[in-house]
Amino acid sequence: SRLFNFCAGPAALPQTVLERARDEMLDWQGRGLSVMEMSHRSEAFISIAEQAEADLRSLLAIPDHYKVLFMQGGASSQFAMLPLNLGGQGGTANYIYTGIWGQKAIQEGQRYLPTHLAASSEANGLTRVPTPSEIQLSTDAAYLHYTSNETIGGLQFDYIPEVSDDLPLVCDMSSDILSGPIDVSRFGVIYAGAQKNIGPAGLTLVIIREDLLDRAQAQTPTMFQYRVCADHASMYNTPPTFAWYLAGLVFDWLKNEVGGLEAMAQINQRKAARLYHTIDTLDFYSNPIAKPNRSQMNVPFRLADASLEKTFLKEAEAAGLLNLAGHRSVGGMRASLYNAVPEAAVDALTAFMTDFAHKWG
Ligand code: PLP
Repeated sequence: SRLFNFCAGPAALPQTVLERARDEMLDWQGRGLSVMEMSHRSEAFISIAEQAEADLRSLLAIPDHYKVLFMQGGASSQFAMLPLNLGGQGGTANYIYTGIWGQKAIQEGQRYLPTHLAASSEANGLTRVPTPSEIQLSTDAAYLHYTSNETIGGLQFDYIPEVSDDLPLVCDMSSDILSGPIDVSRFGVIYAGAQKNIGPAGLTLVIIREDLLDRAQAQTPTMFQYRVCADHASMYNTPPTFAWYLAGLVFDWLKNEVGGLEAMAQINQRKAARLYHTIDTLDFYSNPIAKPNRSQMNVPFRLADASLEKTFLKEAEAAGLLNLAGHRSVGGMRASLYNAVPEAAVDALTAFMTDFAHKWG
């Protein structure tokens, strides 16, 4: 009865993760209670939490001098937590603008630090990311922030910006974290809302180099301080225990069923290539993004005749293909191909799109 779900977030979860959660729902490993009902200080929950972190560390090969924080408030809260936590020594927050989420990060950053636009994709209509030589930092940069994958525009960086060792590179990886291997050591801070490739909404992941934990502005609320979160193993207050547990099941699935992030990346490349091929070979569909920056995770596309959009969505849903409408701010269509979206879903989508184009084109 489960249909193919192309939602941009909260997104599809792996079938086997949901099955495991269902099987363990009432009685986790013979303890006689659900994970939802456990104390976060219990030995049972701490083992769940520690295993999740260990699996994540192994998947991303996170170096020992980085802390993994399981926070709350979504990626949107990080837009404020970053300048608060990294701005204690003054300086200017530098940003690369490639889309709507980056714009929100800048607007929030401006409330807590002076900001500088180091590079922007505005002039090319958000269709390609700035080249390395287009990135111009201010002299007193406190950090450089960018969004590796703009979820709404479908614009993804195909490189990691190069910065000097003393400048923290900060990345919002909400919509492409865990889609493939990354070199964590290139970053000062990586953050991501969980509800795409990590697990259910409610959990926010922060990976931070330890030497950056003590740069907070004095007024930073206790709950927002990375240092406090790190010193309390992400349990200064009650963490979102069930979301953390489910994220752990997703990490376990990635490690032991998918076979790691290299294998995941290959699957994701195949899925995206198949969908872009369909868009490019049928005149009926279009995607405006420069090929090297086309997102592997979120594929926006338009129909040649926009008046057919409602019909497209209706017929897609009838064919078992859910959540293909573009973001409300931009319209059009969007298929999100996160890790848990199986290749069979893309096969079904491309077959539907081909039929639809022949029927209405
Ligand atoms: N950043 C990116 C790249 C996103 O895709 C999203 C949500 O879709 C956000 C930030 C905001 O995340 P949240 O809803 O967790 O605050």
